[in-house]
Amino acid sequence: MITYSKQTIDNNDILQVSKVLKSDFLTQGPKVPIFEKKICKFTSSKYCVAVNSASSGLYLACKALNLKKDDFIWTVSNSFAATANCILLSGYKVDFVDIDEDNWNLSISKLEKKLSVAKKKRKLPKAIIVVHLAGLPVDPIQLKKLSKKYKFKIIEDAAHSIGSKYYNKKVGSCKWSDICVFSFHPVKIITTAEGGCITTNNKEYFEKMILMRNNGITKNVRKFKNKNLGDWYYEQHSLGFNFRMNDLQAALGINQLKKINYFVKKRNLIALNYRKKLKNIPLNFQQVGNNFLSSYHLFIIKLKDKKKHKKLFNYLRSNKIFVNLHYLPIHLHPFYRSIGFKKKDLPISEDYSSSAISIPIYPKLSLVNQNKVIKLIFKFFKSYEK
Ligand SMILES: *Cc1c(COP(=O)(O)O)cnc(C)c1O
Repeated sequence: MITYSKQTIDNNDILQVSKVLKSDFLTQGPKVPIFEKKICKFTSSKYCVAVNSASSGLYLACKALNLKKDDFIWTVSNSFAATANCILLSGYKVDFVDIDEDNWNLSISKLEKKLSVAKKKRKLPKAIIVVHLAGLPVDPIQLKKLSKKYKFKIIEDAAHSIGSKYYNKKVGSCKWSDICVFSFHPVKIITTAEGGCITTNNKEYFEKMILMRNNGITKNVRKFKNKNLGDWYYEQHSLGFNFRMNDLQAALGINQLKKINYFVKKRNLIALNYRKKLKNIPLNFQQVGNNFLSSYHLFIIKLKDKKKHKKLFNYLRSNKIFVNLHYLPIHLHPFYRSIGFKKKDLPISEDYSSSAISIPIYPKLSLVNQNKVIKLIFKFFKSYEK
C-alpha cells in the first residue's frame, strides 16, 4: 500500500536493535545518553532529553517553563491534539492563533494583532507553541522579535521537522527559542518506533525535565539535599512520571540519525517532482521562503475548489493511495468545543482543513509510485473538464 508517510528500516537498524536485546540493559543503559549527545551535535543544541514520545516532550516543556496556574499559552489549531493538550495538562490555559493563508503555519501578523489586543486586556500569553507544519519552519526571527516585545517564551513543536533549517541553522538549535520538541513516531523523519526528544540551551529547563522524566528522582550525588546514606540512596525532588526512552529505541534512533540527510534529501526530491508535475492542476502548495529548508514530513496539496475535497480524497483512497488530512482543527474537536471553542473562531484554519490532503511522501516511495499518484490526480481533474 502507498501511505502518506512511513518508516525506512534497513538491516543495520535491525542489527543495532538486536545487539541491545542481547546486552545487559534494555532500558537505562548506555544507548540513551549516546543518542542524546548525537542529537545535540546534529542540532547544535546544548542539552537533549530523550523521551518516550513527543507528546511527553511537549508536556515536559510546558512544565519546565514553570508558569503560574491559568497562565495562557497560545498555539495553532491545525496540528495534532498533543500540541494543545500539553498546555491544559500542565494547568495552563490555551488559546489559538490563526494560520497564514500561504504557508499554513502560525500567522505572524495575526499573532501580532492578537498580542496587541491581549496587552490592553492584560491577558498576554506567557508562551507560544509554534508548529513547523509539514517540516516548514515558522520564521524564528520575526517570532523572537515579538517574544522580546511581549515577553513570552517560545516552544517549538518540531514533531515534523528534525532536519529542517532556518537561516542556515537546524531546527532544534534553539537559537531563537527556549525549547524544541521532536517526534520519532514511524511516520516522522527518523523513527524510534515510539519516542521523541527535547532540545534546549537552558540548563534550568534541562534539569527540570531530566528530573520529571524519571518520577522526579535523582541519583546524582551532587544534587542531593540530604546526606548521602550510601550507594542505594536517591532522592525525589519533584513530581514526575516515567517518560523515559529505552535502549532499544535509542539504538534505533542512533542508526536512523546516520541516514537523516539522505531521508531529507529524498523527501525534497519527491516534493520537487510533485510541485513540477502538478503545477497546472488547480491546487495550492505550501509557500517555502528563501531562508528555509523543509524536511517534508508531509506533502500537502490544497484544493482551490473545496467542493472537490472529499471526492478527491475518496478517489485516491479507493485507488489504494492512503492519503490523509493534517489536520482537523483542534478547536473543533468535541473536547475543545466543550471548553468553549466554536466554529468560525479560526476561519483560515477551518478553511484549510476542508481543502488540504497529504499525499504520499517517504524516502522509499519510488518514482513509479510518485507518478501513479500524479496520474490519478490528473485523471480526477480531467473528469471535471468534460
Ligand atoms: C506526531 C506529532 C506529535 C506527537 O508525537 P508523538 O511522538 O506521537 O507523541 C505532536 N505534534 C505534532 C505536530 C505531531 O505531528
